[in-house]
Amino acid sequence: TLTLLFLMPEQPAGALVYYWLISILGGMLSLYIIKHEADARVLFKQYKFQANYDFLTGIFNKRKFEEVSRVLYDRTSQSPSSQLALIYLDIDHFKQINDQYGHYEGDQVLKELGARLRFLLSSSHTSARIGGEEFAVLMPNCTYTKGLHLAEEIRHTIDANPILLTSGDTIPVTVSLGIAHYPTNTPDPQTLPLIADRMLYKAKTSGRNQVCSTEKKE
Ligand code: GH3
Ligand code: MG
Ligand code: MG
Repeated sequence: TLTLLFLMPEQPAGALVYYWLISILGGMLSLYIIKHEADARVLFKQYKFQANYDFLTGIFNKRKFEEVSRVLYDRTSQSPSSQLALIYLDIDHFKQINDQYGHYEGDQVLKELGARLRFLLSSSHTSARIGGEEFAVLMPNCTYTKGLHLAEEIRHTIDANPILLTSGDTIPVTVSLGIAHYPTNTPDPQTLPLIADRMLYKAKTSGRNQVCSTEKKE
């Protein structure tokens, strides 16, 4: 306003009012655009998180896990000296936990399992919730023995530490695990999920709360 008064001391009637009106409208429009941009950025971050992560456990979801697996399987096939282990984990009798304590407490169990996996695994491992109460872990550059050891450590940690529910109850939870290893079990990394699935089925049918593996090659 001062600049305008200085440059045009003799102003047409109402010029300043028009100037103020346009300035205020322009300012409001700028604010609106800035706010819209900021909201869009927050939403984009949220959608990006939801596209890759499981909201309950904070670890990868199935979609992201598939993406990472594909890259790892391709990379492993191309360098025959590399190794790769895959663990499938399924909570034992989870339906009973839901039935007895409710779906909300069931969710707390899933959250706690996600936290324990994050705690036990290193940054080179990829863990994900790939189904309702099913988890998977991919371990690149991991020997068969090391993979087996980690699977057993996961099983033991869950078995030995009952889970505290929000109601204050502490409940024992066990998991069954199946493990598959390249190149011990297969010459083709793409078949690891099939073998891990079969081993998980074996763990379930032979009593649960155990890790099943095989040294056999397909
Ligand atoms: P098993 O030892 O053979 O694996 O038995 P299970 O009861 O764990 O397996 P089943 O497949 O019979 O039941 C899985 C249950 O997991 C059923 C479903 O209600 C529950 N579930 C799946 N997703 C969620 C979830 O996000 N939250 C909760 N609380 N429950 C879930
Ligand atoms: Mg299941
Ligand atoms: Mg289950």
